[in-house]
Amino acid sequence: MYKRQEAGASPSVLGSKNDLPPAFWGKASGLACLDIAAGRLMEDGYGHHIERLMVLSNIATLLDVSPRQLTDWFWAAYIDAFDWVVEPNVLGMGTFGSGDVMTTKPYVSGAGYIDRMSDFCGSCAFHPKKNCPITRLYWAFLGRHEDALAGNHRIAMPLRSLGKRIESKRAEDRRVFKLVLGALAAGKRLRPEDLEG
Ligand code: SF4
Repeated sequence: MYKRQEAGASPSVLGSKNDLPPAFWGKASGLACLDIAAGRLMEDGYGHHIERLMVLSNIATLLDVSPRQLTDWFWAAYIDAFDWVVEPNVLGMGTFGSGDVMTTKPYVSGAGYIDRMSDFCGSCAFHPKKNCPITRLYWAFLGRHEDALAGNHRIAMPLRSLGKRIESKRAEDRRVFKLVLGALAAGKRLRPEDLEG
């Protein structure tokens, strides 16, 4: 189980410390949800709740991006960034950086939720039910943090589903996570064929 931290302004109960990929600044990633949400944000300095929480924060959290780095990016990118909103919302709800001090569970999802709550998937090279890497990232996230999240009742059901996931699928989740993390860190645009094993 993760421990509550006295980590000042840089909490990360899951130990997430990867850099924010260039896609968050508008470099094309090939993931339509990320590219459209980040692109609109770079144009307007604004995005709605689903884009903030379930696309941008979700993807950053699934990639183990440093909560502090994502929070600083929110400061720079949004015209309505105020301290009383950004710090608790991103360090707490957006990334689970501060653990259950601010929120009860990590707000992470696979492609199914993004597809249900937006119209991004229709214009994506990936299919939300077939080859979307975000679903793999979701399972890989649960796998990496399974021990830390054990005992959190709000995430018990997804962890039970993870427990039933066969090892070959979990290995594939890890492979896709590494591949996507590396590609996005290098500023590459992902194509479906890049994910083939
Ligand atoms: S298919 Fe996956 S990557 Fe593409 S828009 Fe939907 S959730 Fe995002």
